[in-house]
Amino acid sequence: MIIGGDLTKVNQMLSDAQKADFYSGRLPSEPLRSLSELAHIRLTTKQDLREHSPYGFLAVPRHKVAVYHESFGTTGKPVSIWLTEEDLMDTAAEINTCGVELSPADTVLIRYPYAISQIAHTFHLAARLRGACIIPASSRSTISPFPRVVRIMQSLEVTILAALPLQAILLAKTAELMGVSPTRGFPHLRAICSAGEPLTPQRRQLIQELWEVPVYDNYGMTELGAAALDCAYGRLHPLLDDFVFELLNEQGTASMDLGKIGYLVVSTLKRRATPLVRYWTGDRARLVLEPCPCGAQYRLEVRGRQEDCLEIAGSIFDPWDLEKMISDIPGKQLWVVGPLEPMGLHFIVESQILQGKKNSGKIIMAHAGEYQLPIQVSLVPPGTLYSSQALLDAGEVGKPRYIYSREELDAKLYEKNLRL
Ligand SMILES: [Zn+2]
Repeated sequence: MIIGGDLTKVNQMLSDAQKADFYSGRLPSEPLRSLSELAHIRLTTKQDLREHSPYGFLAVPRHKVAVYHESFGTTGKPVSIWLTEEDLMDTAAEINTCGVELSPADTVLIRYPYAISQIAHTFHLAARLRGACIIPASSRSTISPFPRVVRIMQSLEVTILAALPLQAILLAKTAELMGVSPTRGFPHLRAICSAGEPLTPQRRQLIQELWEVPVYDNYGMTELGAAALDCAYGRLHPLLDDFVFELLNEQGTASMDLGKIGYLVVSTLKRRATPLVRYWTGDRARLVLEPCPCGAQYRLEVRGRQEDCLEIAGSIFDPWDLEKMISDIPGKQLWVVGPLEPMGLHFIVESQILQGKKNSGKIIMAHAGEYQLPIQVSLVPPGTLYSSQALLDAGEVGKPRYIYSREELDAKLYEKNLRL
């Protein structure tokens, strides 16, 4: 299925994209006669972007470019994304469709990384356009370690925390270690704006419980900008005026029906400097027809990147599946998972109920009912996956990663003397 845009906008985008070397001669020479013909155009992959960076996707003269960003994959060469001044303003406007409704009354602490990637800068611009006061704290920086951010949030009466979900969790944990209650120590905080990693329903709930404020999600990436935003009702809606969305099968050869899980392919309709036609995002997703009180018709469920999924015995498990399997574990907070030989899943789960206990690693064996796979859960005390000392020290902590290899799972348990 294809949703978003209209034929006029799509044809304009195709004509503009041809100005980039990569798309020159690759796109149809005649305008499309229907939106469904878009499906005949070859996909653009991250590998294409990598191979043709930095200039191959640039579709405007250099003097029209306002800013340059890169996105990094797990390996290899970075991807170059250029933006004009208008691209920047459009991306900020997309972010401001969010139900959080930033205003001059807000003090917004931005904990997204400012170095090279885009989200911190466009969120910053979006908040400025709404008249909010911004604290550009950045993340994974030795200048703004977790305790300093906690102190700033308190003393400057921060109303909005903008952070990756894992960072929001680790900040709450740091506050607790400092003797500050996340729920009572920040009376001015009214919302958390999340971006940068998939927000499973359980993770959203955990953050909302830790801080007792609503979470607003933003789905996007440096390559696209903000492509879907949470409305005031906390539902993630695709931005149909600015992007065309398709869901394909794993091979990218056939379209998936509404409501089915597939792989998200997005075409940009407004990006002038680096337009992308049928970009294979690598994200597993589901589009649902679900009219919302806010007026939107569709809801987007982003279930995680391909590299955040585990394939066991021919089945693919994404973060939503994985988190659901361990949702009943009491006091569950942070977790990682890897393969269990010969074909199962091994989770390490930090549980609040083991708070203050040392070396109390406990193993639970279970069967993931609907998947018919053995799962092993090593229940460990908080502080096993992200050490309390590291949170209180300066340093680079908190890059999201949930999938471990078998050896890494063992090493993590061994390091904490929890090997059973
Ligand atoms: Zn809505």
